[in-house]
Amino acid sequence: MNKNDLTRRQFIAAASAGSLATVTSGIIPAYGNLSRKVGKLAILGGKPVRTNKSWPSWPYWDNKVVDSVIKTTKSRIWCRIQSRSGTVPTLEKKFAQLIGAKFCVATGSGTQALHTCVEALGIGPGDEVITSPYTDPGTISSILTARALPVLADLDTESYQLDPDDVEKKITENTRAIMPVHMMGQPCNMARIMEIAKKHNLKVIEDAAQAHLAEYKGKKLGTIGDLGCFSFQSSKTIACGEGGAITGNDEELMDKCYTVHNHGTSRRGLTEVAGPKYRMNEFEAAVLLGQWDGIEERFERRNENAAHLTYRLKDVPGIVPQKLYEGTASGSFYLYSMTYQKEHFNNADRSKFFKAVAAEGVSLSPYIVKGLHKEPWIEHILASKVYQKMYSAKRLRQYREQIDCPNCDKVCREMAMIWASGPLLGSRSDMDDIADAIEKVYENRDKLNSI
Ligand SMILES: *Cc1c(COP(=O)(O)O)cnc(C)c1O
Repeated sequence: MNKNDLTRRQFIAAASAGSLATVTSGIIPAYGNLSRKVGKLAILGGKPVRTNKSWPSWPYWDNKVVDSVIKTTKSRIWCRIQSRSGTVPTLEKKFAQLIGAKFCVATGSGTQALHTCVEALGIGPGDEVITSPYTDPGTISSILTARALPVLADLDTESYQLDPDDVEKKITENTRAIMPVHMMGQPCNMARIMEIAKKHNLKVIEDAAQAHLAEYKGKKLGTIGDLGCFSFQSSKTIACGEGGAITGNDEELMDKCYTVHNHGTSRRGLTEVAGPKYRMNEFEAAVLLGQWDGIEERFERRNENAAHLTYRLKDVPGIVPQKLYEGTASGSFYLYSMTYQKEHFNNADRSKFFKAVAAEGVSLSPYIVKGLHKEPWIEHILASKVYQKMYSAKRLRQYREQIDCPNCDKVCREMAMIWASGPLLGSRSDMDDIADAIEKVYENRDKLNSI
């Protein structure tokens, strides 16, 4: 860890703890261009904060990525079982090493990685897995595909992460695992979640699909629970189109993951269990290996930019950057997110805030508009023969009654975010544009209801 790195880590820890006293001593200059912030709103005919500038685009590629794909094409090694030194086995070694796990199994997507873990842990019909309603559908898909019951616990409204207290309340005699989701790429409260898992003898599958390289209490995410899962889908902070990975330290369990993901066929060549075919292909791994050299640099850059944005935004009334838990050393910043409190903006609806900021040249949006507890899959499983056979009528009735997640609803209403995989690779002045645009809208909040 170099000196700058340490400074940044301290900075994030301080910023998230709400105290900047230790780090304001000249490391990050107080910044703000007043004239840009008090002018007329662009949506009302004023000059936009940002014009004719593009954000770093995503997914990332350069000639090394292209060469890597060409090399795989010409090698005729297109499938992982053709060679032990192909791109997929190489990627598995390198990814395990990068995040400090002993083993890695690559898959065709993050959803496939999660489902493989659920199956490998022997979780199926009759079993329950507790997870978040505020996540990608792939999270619950992995539980539903195993015909287990996804039990949704509510959120901590400041971090947008699973609330450990509610997780504990949702445990029943059939609960087998917790699937914490590291939302936006930042760590959830793993100390509490691991404690609860231990107390109730539950497995922990970390959904780190957004959280590559993020670090919490000295460990990278995806190495804290029994198993960790990642996604390399196009939008994620390490991307190859579609792809995923499972990480873990238990050799036997990771071998089981390999067997499950390989249509039930083990490394010994015997078809031993029921399993889908979820192998990553060699082209996907070629795209990932081609961008390997810059991965840590891009991660560092997003962290530095996020720290600067938080520093700029944390004193804007009504804008509250995502809370980071104590022990967070770094985040992946798949999204940079904040809570918009309309009472500080003349009660203007979030949509008006978004419109005004967009006119200034900065794109903010909601992420998940409606929590998974409000999607139609619930009625579908409650009416399905499989679920009616595997779960008692009483449990299914109780399931429907307990489906509310009011904190998640609040987060869906109030959260504002920037897609960060590309944009957070921008310059310091790009970050200042984001903050200036938001501050300018705040300064003009009395006009927001007229737009
Ligand atoms: C993207 C994502 C997934 C699913 O990964 P895919 O590769 O798209 O299947 C699961 N969970 C979370 C939190 C995600 O962001």
